[in-house]
Amino acid sequence: MGRFQHIAYVGLGSNLADPAAQVVQALAALDALPQTRLLKKSSLYRSAPVGYLNQPDFINAVAQVETELAPRALLDALLALELECGRTREFLNAPRTLDLDVLMYDDLLHHEHGLTVPHPQMHLRAFVLLPLLEIAPDCIIPGVGAAADAMAGCAGQQLERLEHAAK
Ligand code: ADP
Ligand code: MG
Repeated sequence: MGRFQHIAYVGLGSNLADPAAQVVQALAALDALPQTRLLKKSSLYRSAPVGYLNQPDFINAVAQVETELAPRALLDALLALELECGRTREFLNAPRTLDLDVLMYDDLLHHEHGLTVPHPQMHLRAFVLLPLLEIAPDCIIPGVGAAADAMAGCAGQQLERLEHAAK
C-alpha cells in the first residue's frame, strides 16, 4: 500500500457498440500503466448523450489510481491508451470513442496548454460526479468544493447504474 506518491482520479467514457467492454478494458489498462496502480473503480453508469443526440448511450466510470507519473505524463499515457483501446477495427480511421480524462491530481490546481486540473467540466457532469462519489464520498474538488454539493446541482441529469464493479 502507498507504493506511489500521488492520488489521481481518471474519468472514463465510451459509446462504442460495446462500450461497457471498452470501459472495463480501459480500467484494466490503467492498472498496467507504468508506476501506476488502480486503487478503486466505480460501477459502470449509462448516460444519454447530450448535445448531439443521434448517437448511442455512453458508459462512464471513474477510477482512483496511485501513481508516480507527473500530471502531464499521466495525461499523455491516457491519450495513448485512448488511441490503443479506443479505435474500432471496423473500418479505417474509425472515430476514437474512448475518452479518458484526468479529473483530479492530489489537491493540485493547474492550468497549462492542453492540461487543466481539475478537469474544468467535471463538477457540472453527473456522469463524472456520481461514479466519483461512489468511490470517494467525501471528495473535495480543488477550487470547487464538495463533490456531493456539485452533484446536487446536477439532479436533472439522468444516469443509470449498471452493476457494481468489485473493489
Ligand atoms: P473532452 O473534454 O470531452 O474529454 P477530448 O477528450 O476530445 O474532449 O479533449 C481532449 C483534449 O483535452 C486533450 O487533447 C487534452 O489536451 C485536453 N485536456 C485538458 N485538460 C484535460 C484533462 N484534465 N484531462 C484530459 N484532457 C484534458
Ligand atoms: Mg477527454
